Amino acid sequence: MRPGKMLREVLGSIFKKPATNLYPAQKMDMPEGFRGKIKFDPEKCIGCKMCMRDCPTNAITINKVGEGKFEAVFDLSRCIYCAQCVDTCPKKALSTTKEVELAQLDKNKLRVVFHSKE
Ligand code: SF4
Ligand code: SF4
Repeated sequence: MRPGKMLREVLGSIFKKPATNLYPAQKMDMPEGFRGKIKFDPEKCIGCKMCMRDCPTNAITINKVGEGKFEAVFDLSRCIYCAQCVDTCPKKALSTTKEVELAQLDKNKLRVVFHSKE
């Protein structure tokens, strides 16, 4: 690149909006359909365990905790946020969220339990 052209680029970039943001001070606005942390709705689950069958990393476990009552346990250290479980669930009991701040220092906190309906 010629020095004159380079100087024009440098001066031009001074007045441009930055391409990056000031995360974490400035939160990111995730787009629609973003595949963040998976959410479980115990009201809809019928315990078919098809989500467990299709999860490529064995990150989800469905436990029967009563008659017609199921809880979901997610191991976020295994989950790759592919949302295959969401696509598989015939009752739409699983859904994606825009939650991305999931890092933990304590690995035990990556085990997330969604308790069954009362
Ligand atoms: S696939 Fe859906 S309905 Fe079946 S066990 Fe999983 S969450 Fe429940
Ligand atoms: S998002 Fe993918 S990896 Fe995570 S629990 Fe669902 S199927 Fe498994």
